[in-house]
Amino acid sequence: MAAKKDIKDLALNELAAELESLGEPAFRAKQIFAWLYRRGKATFGEFSDISRGLRDKLEERYFIGRLEAVERLRSGDGVQKFLFRLGDGNRVETVLIPSGTRRTVCLSTQAGCRYRCAFCASGLGGFQRNLTPSEITGQVLFVKDVLGEEPTNLVFMGMGEPLDNFDNVAGAVRIMNAAEGMGIAARRFTISTCGIVPGIERLAKLDLQVNLSLSLHAVTDRQRDRLMPFNRKYPLEEIVRACEAYLESGGRMMTLEYTLIRDVNDTRNDAEGLAAIARRLRAKVNLIAYSPVPGLEFAPPEDAAVKEFVRWLEERRVQVTERRSKGADIAAACGQLAGHKKGETRETLETGGKRETGKAEKRGRPGRKAESVGTRTAKEPRGSGRRDDPPPLNARKKRAL
Ligand code: SF4
Repeated sequence: MAAKKDIKDLALNELAAELESLGEPAFRAKQIFAWLYRRGKATFGEFSDISRGLRDKLEERYFIGRLEAVERLRSGDGVQKFLFRLGDGNRVETVLIPSGTRRTVCLSTQAGCRYRCAFCASGLGGFQRNLTPSEITGQVLFVKDVLGEEPTNLVFMGMGEPLDNFDNVAGAVRIMNAAEGMGIAARRFTISTCGIVPGIERLAKLDLQVNLSLSLHAVTDRQRDRLMPFNRKYPLEEIVRACEAYLESGGRMMTLEYTLIRDVNDTRNDAEGLAAIARRLRAKVNLIAYSPVPGLEFAPPEDAAVKEFVRWLEERRVQVTERRSKGADIAAACGQLAGHKKGETRETLETGGKRETGKAEKRGRPGRKAESVGTRTAKEPRGSGRRDDPPPLNARKKRAL
């Protein structure tokens, strides 16, 4: 008998087709969606308006995926971070960011990341695998059903590059957007990319009016090649053109994410380059002061440098929001998600079980809730193997750009 599949990997139309193949009316798909996503039921036996016969058929063929949180951390600024252990032992993180009436959930889309941006913890352990639609929507359901918090905004800015897992991310958005699913309006979704041109082009052709955010972080190819090595495959001009086409296709407004790193991308020239791109894309800029990552030697900018950078942008008529990166004390801020438990470092994981005390632990604050530490061996990341350009900024050897 074939292995059971996760029913939450199916979009509404796919579930309807499956039901028809089982000799059942397609409209039952809407009822099943309501049980899965509106009422958050975990067993087929609870689907009380579905016949016993159909429940048995579902039970034979499917299981209902559910994420298991192995750690929950609370930041002093209200941010919460959850570490989930997936069925195969991989781990990913999700962040809940409350702000006024907003409840923003920052979602992971991959276990690890293949792109290895020099300032980001998610790429340090390399790429493990893509998350399934069920594992992506499961992060939102955890916040909804387990915590009782109703998410208002969903941003795909956690671990992984969303457009590198295009089909599953789009599938998850459709499930969450469907009126019979979670019924979350498309304008509440923001898909972030570091600049995967074919993914931006595909997104432009989708009938989903989600927001697009470009993680820019550097404004010349030379800078970007070093900070974000895959830029050698998709240079800046190609990315900006793909974004222009996205806007022309009727896509919603764009934002540019720019992590300000001391002595790396914080000059007036950088601000000028950023302003030029922002004006071209009619984009707002979210400016985020870099949050330290253990093992990386980049430094956050001084407050005065952030203010000056904001002023330079505003002088150039760019709409800029200085985003205080929340959750830094629990390693939940932008670029800090690594799929580790509190106190673990990449070195800890690579010892295959022997616990070592790393920088993260030394910096950790006492009194936070954390469970005991399990370990796994992180796979080595793939090399990019692309053009013969300058090497990327290494995690431990920062060079002047
Ligand atoms: S910034 Fe995004 S693309 Fe780059 S390593 Fe981190 S998760 Fe991957």
